[in-house]
Amino acid sequence: MTTVRMVVDGQEILARAGQTILQACREHGIPIPTLCYDEHLQPLTACRMCVVEVEEHGLVLSCDTRVADGLVIWTQSPRVIAARRQYLETILSEHYGDCVSPCRMACPAGLDIQGYISLIKRGAYREAVELIKETLPLPAVIGRICPHPCETACRRSLVDQPVAICALKRFVADYDLRSGNPWMPEIKPRTGFRVAIVGSGPAGLSAAYYLAREGHEVTIFEALPKPGGMLRYGIPDYRLPKEILDAEISSITAMGVEIRTGQVLGRDFTVQNLLDEGYHAVFLAVGAHQSQRMNVEGEGLQGVLSGIEFLRAVAEGERPALGRRVAVIGGGNTAMDAARTALRLGAEEVTIVYRRSRAEMPANPWEVEEAEEEGIHLEFLAAPVRVIGENGRVRAIECLRMALGPPDASGRRRPEPVPGSEFLLPVDTVIVAIGQRPDLSFLAQEKGLRAEGGNLVVDAETLMADTAGVWAGGDCVTGAATAVEAIAAGRKAALAIDRYLQGKDPRGPREPFVIRKGELDELADLEEWAQVERRPREPMPRSHPAERRADFREIELGYSEEAAQREAARCLECGCAVEYDCTLRQLATEYGIPSFSVREKRPRYPLDTSHPFIERDPNKCVACLRCVQVCSDVQEIGAISVVYRVGTAEGYGGSLLNTPCVSCGMCVDVCPVGALVAKNELRPARTVKTVCPYCGVGCGVILGVRGNHIVSVRGDPDSPVNRGQLCVKGRFGYEFVRHPDRLTTPLVRRDGKLVPVSWEEALDLVAHRLAAYRGDQFAMITSARCTNEDNYVMQKFARAVMGTNNVDHCARL
Ligand code: FAD
Repeated sequence: MTTVRMVVDGQEILARAGQTILQACREHGIPIPTLCYDEHLQPLTACRMCVVEVEEHGLVLSCDTRVADGLVIWTQSPRVIAARRQYLETILSEHYGDCVSPCRMACPAGLDIQGYISLIKRGAYREAVELIKETLPLPAVIGRICPHPCETACRRSLVDQPVAICALKRFVADYDLRSGNPWMPEIKPRTGFRVAIVGSGPAGLSAAYYLAREGHEVTIFEALPKPGGMLRYGIPDYRLPKEILDAEISSITAMGVEIRTGQVLGRDFTVQNLLDEGYHAVFLAVGAHQSQRMNVEGEGLQGVLSGIEFLRAVAEGERPALGRRVAVIGGGNTAMDAARTALRLGAEEVTIVYRRSRAEMPANPWEVEEAEEEGIHLEFLAAPVRVIGENGRVRAIECLRMALGPPDASGRRRPEPVPGSEFLLPVDTVIVAIGQRPDLSFLAQEKGLRAEGGNLVVDAETLMADTAGVWAGGDCVTGAATAVEAIAAGRKAALAIDRYLQGKDPRGPREPFVIRKGELDELADLEEWAQVERRPREPMPRSHPAERRADFREIELGYSEEAAQREAARCLECGCAVEYDCTLRQLATEYGIPSFSVREKRPRYPLDTSHPFIERDPNKCVACLRCVQVCSDVQEIGAISVVYRVGTAEGYGGSLLNTPCVSCGMCVDVCPVGALVAKNELRPARTVKTVCPYCGVGCGVILGVRGNHIVSVRGDPDSPVNRGQLCVKGRFGYEFVRHPDRLTTPLVRRDGKLVPVSWEEALDLVAHRLAAYRGDQFAMITSARCTNEDNYVMQKFARAVMGTNNVDHCARL
């Protein structure tokens, strides 16, 4: 063997004569990107990403250039990087699809919605909860109260109505809680690091969950008597029963998280005290608990309450005397909850006074609707200017009519007073719910922590404050927002803290590159949606308005399993099936290509979904030719063709079913993007190497597994039997494992009917029947599904016990 000496990136390497530069570099662990290279195929030179710079020769394709003595090669020079970026941009300009589903893009927690809905569809409920908890530790809570921006972005609304994503999350989380054995994450070995969290709202709880999972010792310091923050002391029971909150908090304390209640930062301790006590990091998640005042005359009268304090008092079991008529000032979540709570406490007339119109209300529209159904009156375009009292107690409020002017800084139209439009609203109680801000009075004793505009200031990427070892997130940083945003912040801080504790850069990996087809309104005219069968959204069962205004019982009753299954089946699965494994996406991220939305909003080629296992989307094809070569040169089938994009032997519009395709799935395995994907496959949580159980050949397979479910199968490239190849049964026939029709108990025929019996009974019957035969009266054939061990035992039984050599196996070669 002749060896050659080359210098690659300044380092001398030895290569074998005849090798390509790419092969030699790979052997020496020098990474060169490629989309089309496959060691089993002739170099295809299609993607050009393997370009390198050879001194005195310029840019060459490393997959197609042989090594030679004395070559000086640069794999990462500015010219090489620029060329690769240019090739990537060209490829991407023709790549049409959504890397990530629009619902996930819209979710502040980045939840893999398509993934968990797909698991619900296969009845893998525990696995769905596991997937949800990768980014959201309180799914039963969030499944009840989230304003679900994911549903606003759902493409299904271009067909009929958005998928009930939130209700499905609630269904599966409740199912898990009710199972008696809720899913718990695996906790890594103890690290010895201690983290203090101040505040036990969703941000604090979420940070605690992800830090505890990493093996850190977490203590939460909470001012109030019970944990949960606004989830407990703001949101009333009729929307979020406290036993649900308690159950999800228990699952976090069961991970070893300690919650110390009645501990007030600024009163009982300072951040510095925590650091001095040996906590290695501190996360501040103190929320926004200070009510904003109206600053009008009479605000100090008896009977004028703040919305937050009123809701907290009710949550603590108090029943404040409100009188007959209650006015609630404000148009957000707190105003809605205060008004509906007042009604449930016995107020006869509840009026919400809001200075803008219905369209500008920050409250969720369905909550406004429900409040009206319950009999709450809404007084729009009105603002209180004075509270009028009698004997120190409120008697009425004087309001002024408003008109809407141009938009203000919030983007909503500014309310402007209409002169001379004063009117009186007689009331017994006024509840002021016009906004909350963080109570940062503890800052007086802290050095290095800053506030701006009433909120704590942190680094946007890491949520790290100016003081080393201190982080903050949730409402205290953003101002009053939503629970899912607070949860996302808690997780983001936890991941940054974990990296910091490990001595790494607290900044996480670069945000992955994303291509999007576009926003809903840009896609409305596409033919794509016309082909989808209309199926209306499953209605959420809820109690009747007349019943519900009388008490605090939960209004929404949740989906039955059948309804959840029907609803899950409505998901259009818009996100790319290879979201996590797409080589093109990985390269675009690595080479810093900015994410973009496709300008030309139309699929140019029809999707081929006719094949039972393989879906073909020519719009994503990057013409790397791997599928064609593997189908014709390795499998010798020739079912696939590429002129410009992946087609079949019939052309672009054809179906794989009209070709000699043997459904081996090799084209799917070699596709570097999502142009050829296996239907129903999911990203596995772990893989298991085993032997295909279908026949006696013994092909090596790698099972992709989530919990107790197989979600993908690949041929094992290291198996000497099949070297990564599989037949259709091995590659796609795994759903029998969890198939609902699969027999799980023995059946015995009685009176012409098969009836289930115990294993003991069935085996006794078999033994009894077999005892009637001896020697060569008897022959034994084992099933193709038997393992070698099964076969061994069977032949031993035949020979040693039954006394016959009549043994065979139906897949004997
Ligand atoms: P919080 O939940 O406020 O938790 C902060 C915690 O820190 C509290 O437990 C507090 O007691 C504690 N704390 C504060 N100061 C100190 C201190 N000095 N020392 C120790 N502990 C301290 N969001 C939705 O998504 N959907 C809804 O339907 C919804 N409805 C809402 C209804 C109401 C009435 C309110 C008020 C809010 C609602 N929200 C809703 C908003 C949501 O509850 C908040 O955005 C979310 O709870 C913020 O989480 P957090 O962890 O940042 O803060």
